[in-house]
Order: sequence, then C-alpha cells, then structure tokens
Amino acid sequence: MIEAEHLEYFKTIVGDENIYSDKAHLIAYSYDATCEHFEPDAVVFPRNEEDVSKILAYCNEHKIIIVPRGAGSGFTGGALPSSGGIVLGFEKHMNKILEIDMKNMVAIVQPGVINMDLQRAVEEAGLFYPPDPASQDYSTIGGNVSENAGGMRAAKYGITKDYVMAIRAVLPNGDLIKAGKRTIKDVAGYNISGILIASEGTLAVLTEITLKLIPKPKLTKTAMGIFPTVKDAMEAVYKTMASGITPVAMEFLDNLTIRAVEQTFHKGLPVDAGALLVTDVDGNLEDDLNFQLDQIEKVFEENGCSEFRRAKDEKEAAAIWFARRNASPALSIYGSKKLNEDVTVPRAVLPELLEKFYAIANKYSVKIPCFGHTGDGNVHTNVMVDGSNPEEVKIAYRAIEEVFQATVDLGGTLSGEHGIGLAKAPYMKMAFSDAEMELFKSIKKAFDPNNILNPAKMGLD
Ligand SMILES: Cc1cc2nc3c(=O)[nH]c(=O)nc-3n(C[C@H](O)[C@H](O)[C@H](O)COP(=O)(O)OP(=O)(O)OC[C@H]3O[C@@H](n4cnc5c(N)ncnc54)[C@H](O)[C@@H]3O)c2cc1C
Repeated sequence: MIEAEHLEYFKTIVGDENIYSDKAHLIAYSYDATCEHFEPDAVVFPRNEEDVSKILAYCNEHKIIIVPRGAGSGFTGGALPSSGGIVLGFEKHMNKILEIDMKNMVAIVQPGVINMDLQRAVEEAGLFYPPDPASQDYSTIGGNVSENAGGMRAAKYGITKDYVMAIRAVLPNGDLIKAGKRTIKDVAGYNISGILIASEGTLAVLTEITLKLIPKPKLTKTAMGIFPTVKDAMEAVYKTMASGITPVAMEFLDNLTIRAVEQTFHKGLPVDAGALLVTDVDGNLEDDLNFQLDQIEKVFEENGCSEFRRAKDEKEAAAIWFARRNASPALSIYGSKKLNEDVTVPRAVLPELLEKFYAIANKYSVKIPCFGHTGDGNVHTNVMVDGSNPEEVKIAYRAIEEVFQATVDLGGTLSGEHGIGLAKAPYMKMAFSDAEMELFKSIKKAFDPNNILNPAKMGLD
C-alpha cells in the first residue's frame, strides 16, 4: 500500500485528474493478456517527459516501484505490478505522433501511440511502417519497442528493432538519455537503444521513439498452400525462403488449428489437410507478383503441396487471412486454459521442432495445436487443457517445460516476440548460462541500482 504523502506528491506533479487510486481502476489496471492479475497501488498518467523524470526521481529516492504500461496486451505479464507500486500509463497524454519527417522518412512518436494509428498516418503520407503485431489495433509503440514485437510481415520486413532509430528515455534516477539519432548510420558509443529494445520496462521509461519508414509497395497478393503433413509444409517454408523469393508472410496452421477455425467459423477450410501455409507477396508490378507466386508454388509443389489457392481479389485474400488471424481464439474449443508460447528456431529445423512438439503432446496426452509465423521460424505452441482441473494444468506446465527444452536444444529461443516477463522467467536458466544471467543482472543494476523499475521480471531477481 502506498503512503498517502506519496500520492499527494504525485498530485502536485500531474494533477488530481491524472491519478487513479480507486478500487475499480486498480482492478482494471491489474491485468494483461496473461489473465494473471496484480493490483497496483495507484495508476499515474504523466503529461510529458518532464513529469516522467520528476516521478522517477521521487520514486527512486523513496524506493517506490514503477511499472510502465502500454495497452496491457502483453502475453507474459510484463506490465503487471507483481510487486505492487505505481503503474505509469501513457494512453492519456503521451500518445501523440509528433512528426512524420517525409524528407528523412522517419516518424517521431510518444510511447502511447497505438500501432495502427501510426500505420494509418504514415500510409496517408505514402510511407510504410511494417511491424504489424496481431494486436496492432490496440498495442502501443512503447509496448512494441519494449517487447520487440513482431507481426505477420516479419518474414520480409523484419520486426520492431529493425525500425527503431532513436529513443529518448528517462532513467530510474530521473535523468534523460537520448540513444541513437535520425541518421541511417550511427556507430558512436554503445548501442543503448539496442539494449532498451525488448528490455520490458526494466531499465528505463521510453518517452519518445524515432522510427524508420520505408516506401509503401503498391500491390499485394495472397495464396494458400494445402499440405498433407506438417513435415512437408515445414520443408516448404525454409526451402521457399532460401529460393531467392522473399514473401512478406509465410504463416502456418496445423491440422488441430484448421479444425478449430473451421468448427468455430465455418470458412470451408480443408479439415483433412495436415497443414496450411498462407503467404503474401508484394511489390509494384503485377508481373513481379505473379512471378513470385509462381516460384513459391513451384517450391510448395516440390514439397508435397496438393493444392495452391491464389486469391483472385481482396475478398478472397481476406477470407484466407481470416483463418490465420482467428486461429488463436478458435483454439478455445480444446480447453479453457491455453499455455501459449512463441518459441522460435532457425527455419531449417522447423520440421524437427514440430515433430518433437507432437511427441510431447502424445507423451502427456494433451492437445498442442500449433500455428504461427514460420517464415521467421516462430511457432505459436498452445498447450490446451481444462483450466478448472489442477491435475491437467500441472501436466500442461510439464509439457511446456519440454517444449522449451526441445526449442533450446535445436538452437532456438524461448521467445520470438512476446518476451519473458513473469511467465517465462522460470525458464531463463534453461536458455542462458550463469555468466550470461550475471551479465543481464549487471546491466539491470547499472540502469536501476535500486531495482524500482518493473522488478521481478525476466528472471533477473
Ligand atoms: C490477441 C493478441 C495478439 C498478439 N499478437 C502479437 C503479435 O503478432 N506479435 C507480437 O509481437 N505480440 C503480439 N501480442 C502481444 C502484445 O500485443 C505485444 O507484446 C505488444 O508489443 C505489447 O504492447 P502493449 O502496448 O500492450 O504493452 P504492455 O503489454 O502494456 O507492456 C509490455 C511491456 O512493455 C513495457 N512498457 C510499455 N510501455 C513502456 C514505456 N513507455 N517504457 C518502458 N517500458 C514500457 C511494460 O512495462 C511491459 O513490460 C499479441 C497480444 C494479443 C492479446
């Protein structure tokens, strides 16, 4: 419980109207997409960078915990105040697109800007900001940078880190730092913005982000490949990516996922298929797009694809993408509790990885439907159980541990996009040596010696 005198001080900085401490709001800010919940002591909305600086300096002096929060759409508990303290929200005031610099092709934004609002604004100006997490309608750029979010277009265009040019941030002691520049190249000093990206609000509070923009391709085409087995589809993924064509997206649904989508939404999907691959290509010339699709179809066919459906128009493309975009909610038919992971491996070991996951499912007699961004080696692995049955939940966690071990054994990572937060903290030691963990802890200490910023996350405590 925070002392009243501290709340009074925050009021002198941001005003009464920018602090919530009533029960209803504390409950509202106690959740993220993990469905775990921890109530904060208060929610404070800074109006600008100066407010952030004053709040942090005060909290540092009084050892008050601060948890920065974007939209709370995180899947790993990063924005949850698991140790209490103040949640710092940016959605009320620090949510502006400050500049779209057409000459240098950059956008400068505050952390609370919603991803889709930025995409729309830059597209109106004829430019393109590619990172498009499925949560793009509500997740914020501050959250995207802090988790290094990926999206459907990552196979060709990369992820958030590939677009961050500079960051302004406030350190826990209240000092402002500027990391990076509006320049294409900058090799002076350590890459501090590189350390802040994916730091999950544990090192500094991001107050302004400069993002690279690129020209918007004029045309996009969509196709879907139907495969008899997951192994065939996974072979087709890495062979396509190595064939000289770079599709925008190369998304995967396995049979359990196809069945769940079909049972829920009745879209005419091939329920007997072992796997589907959904792909997009883009560019400025119709012939070029057709050439790219011809090449992909060729590689798919060489790897067992039984049917290659090209969307004839936007309506057909939207129908294909509907299946992929709604894969996650459809899985609820298999159980009320979903342990949803986002492991990522080098693409060439995808066939082996998926084989291991289905063996784990058999071993524990649980369903593990898989789908995801296979063009970047990223698989959403969903262990589905009855959440009201403690025995099943225990088994699910055992299965997940083996999922992580299989991933790490194949040279992969615990998280391709959702981060570590609270949910994956127990597995960090599986992926990192003692020396590596000590290095992480010393970086945390250098930024935040009093451990006031989002403590107990990422396995650092
Ligand atoms: C349906 C659904 C689909 C999703 N799809 C994807 C996907 O395709 N790709 C993907 O990568 N993720 C996806 N996610 C996960 C989530 O949306 C992303 O992790 C997103 O980047 C989180 O943004 P947010 O604004 O909600 O941040 P929050 O969840 O509020 O916070 C995330 C982390 O960022 C920190 N943070 C937020 N703002 C700041 C700041 N200004 N300074 C310092 N730290 C800060 C928080 O402390 C926390 O650790 C999905 C989530 C849902 C619910």
